[in-house]
Amino acid sequence: MTISARTLFPLLFASLLLFGCSSKDPEEPARETSPRLTPADVDGELLATGGDGSSWVAANFNYQEQRFSPLDQIDRSNVSRLGVAWTAELPDARAQEATPIVVGRRMFVTGPWSKIFAFNAVTGEALWSFDPEVERSVLRNTCCDAVNRGVAVWRGRLYLGTLDGRLISIDANTGAQLWSTQTTDRSQPYTITGTPRVVDNKVIIGNGGAEFGVRGYVSAYDANDGRLLWRFYTVPNPEGEADNAASDQVLRRAAARTWSEEGQWRESGGGGTVWDAIVYDHELDQLYIGVGNGSPWNHGARSQGRGDNLFLSSIVALDPDTGEYLWHYQETPGESWDFTATQHIILADLRMPVRDEEGGIVEGEDGEPRTESRKVLMQAPKNGFFFVIDRTNGELISADPFIEGINWAEGYNLETGRPIENPAARFYRTGEPFISNPGPIGAHNWQPMAYNRETGLVYIPANIAPQIHVPAPGEGPIALGDIGFNTGGDWSDINLPRDEEAIRAAISMVTGQLVAFDPVAGEVRWTADYPTPWNGGIMTTAGGLVFQGTAMGQFKAYDAASGEELWSMDTQSGVLAGASTYQIDGVQYVAFTTGRGGAFAITAGRADRAREIPNIPRLVVLRLGGDGRLPPAPAGDERRLDPPESTGSEAQIAQGQRLFNRYCLVCHGEGAVGGGVNPDLRFSGILGDSEGWRDIVIGGALRSNGMPSFSSAFDGSGANAIRHYVIDKANWDLERIRARREEEGEG
Ligand code: CA
Repeated sequence: MTISARTLFPLLFASLLLFGCSSKDPEEPARETSPRLTPADVDGELLATGGDGSSWVAANFNYQEQRFSPLDQIDRSNVSRLGVAWTAELPDARAQEATPIVVGRRMFVTGPWSKIFAFNAVTGEALWSFDPEVERSVLRNTCCDAVNRGVAVWRGRLYLGTLDGRLISIDANTGAQLWSTQTTDRSQPYTITGTPRVVDNKVIIGNGGAEFGVRGYVSAYDANDGRLLWRFYTVPNPEGEADNAASDQVLRRAAARTWSEEGQWRESGGGGTVWDAIVYDHELDQLYIGVGNGSPWNHGARSQGRGDNLFLSSIVALDPDTGEYLWHYQETPGESWDFTATQHIILADLRMPVRDEEGGIVEGEDGEPRTESRKVLMQAPKNGFFFVIDRTNGELISADPFIEGINWAEGYNLETGRPIENPAARFYRTGEPFISNPGPIGAHNWQPMAYNRETGLVYIPANIAPQIHVPAPGEGPIALGDIGFNTGGDWSDINLPRDEEAIRAAISMVTGQLVAFDPVAGEVRWTADYPTPWNGGIMTTAGGLVFQGTAMGQFKAYDAASGEELWSMDTQSGVLAGASTYQIDGVQYVAFTTGRGGAFAITAGRADRAREIPNIPRLVVLRLGGDGRLPPAPAGDERRLDPPESTGSEAQIAQGQRLFNRYCLVCHGEGAVGGGVNPDLRFSGILGDSEGWRDIVIGGALRSNGMPSFSSAFDGSGANAIRHYVIDKANWDLERIRARREEEGEG
């Protein structure tokens, strides 16, 4: 469908009456707007373009997923006049990862526990909300918080994937559930955090869970009734049987021989979950899925160190009608570092240099490089290289680093399409620990990037966060099927030493960047540096702007061409999700959420400089001349560490530390320092109460909050050892805090 220009004077006039500030603020004349667009109008034709930008109808704007808005009322010259139009408080202080979707005058945003909230996009009036009532015990199956990255809109309905694996269809006008179908086996640790995509009345959805042991797949359901239409498994059936699925043939023909006969994948399912990028190419009628890491991570344990393990860490093109395989490109063969290829994929047509057979650039008669238009897809996955791939056939065009200091590979051989690896990276072969850059949170994670057609640059929310991989001898990996994070590596000893200088040195290596990357030249054009990783997703506009929120609690606008910071606001809380923009009655708005959490905030503990930033779940909407205010900032966290005296024996504390690192670290933070999402155990009121502690850790007393019983992993004396470790660690931290205060007091 197309959006026609309409005469909107009555509505514009009404909005002026409601918002006196508009009259004080001479805006540009209204451009084409479509406030009468309704969710019923969202179909394949609208999704192909995203319309004129007055609405933001899909998580990443349109089928190309460029996150580029054609709106330009807010531009370089006036962005400093952005102010608050309205705000809405959201209920759950966990990671907010969804971009607000706007259709006409309605806004839909999802939050933790897979809840949906609908608002009037102009006034902020709450219209309805939907809570699928996800059982909180599912939290134990999440690697990365109880998050959700958004709904799909299609012909009057919303489609939601829930943390416990349901796909739900909802009436966009009323919030009423129309149908619900379970897409996963509830007896296995599958979760859904990603956004469904709708293609020709088929709802496509994947899942997550590779850290706990599952086999990845993507499915298509009938948008009308939730009937399963096809399923594509990303890795072979560990039982060696056919699945009677669309993937059967290609798994038998091409993938099976890339896996070992023996190996833990037979029990753990192999991984390869499709938890984020699913992109529809309406020009070529192809679907691209980004496939995740192996289960377990360690290639030596998973597949005896043998084989590429297709289709792990690959982009796979499928026929959207049938789910049949079309082509694939594997970014990280024999994946062993949690290097997913699930990250955001952007489609574009780029003028790329013509290359000869040796890969040299071909010059024209004028001496300038010859160029040709190519249909490409672009991805900046965890492994640190920016991939440009010919989407007609999966051919690798270029793979260039988008962060500095990548050490697992020095680059890619463009002829074979394979990485040129550093042998030390295969820690299971060398038997030596390997400090990998990027680490498992990736040089880029789920936070969406954006492509600005006018500057030709891709803007990537990048992380510089190395992490050590320790081969499995020693305490060894967590047994398969047991409770806990199963990576096939030894996590028992990986925490930083109790040495102030070593801690500071390690933390100083962990930072974040906004990277403006030229996909044609394969080069970084400019960067903005942040003190911590895990900053927000990106949105870019025809106003020449790049918008990004930060972990440290700002929302910023940059000049898309030069990288100059043009404007910044204090958001009181960290920002993770990408913003959206829309225009109603002649006024352009920018919308985003605040709220901390997700993988890095939960696990990184003391390396996370943002952990003291308040966690405020809130929707914030801005406009030029907006004169609203954020609610008053909460008082600072007044909690003081006050642990009981440390009475555990040295052996007990050491055992507790090993158990903590294996079983507790992933949720409660490295070094027992909480990230402001799950409880910081050093502050626990029952540290001195060994029975109360045991009731929770062994007895499962807080099961309904998502804290499971660990009785299958260790007994009461193990739980007590963990308690003694946390007490000891809290006392050690308290000493450091006191010493620092004295230093500051004297200085
Ligand atoms: Ca993973």
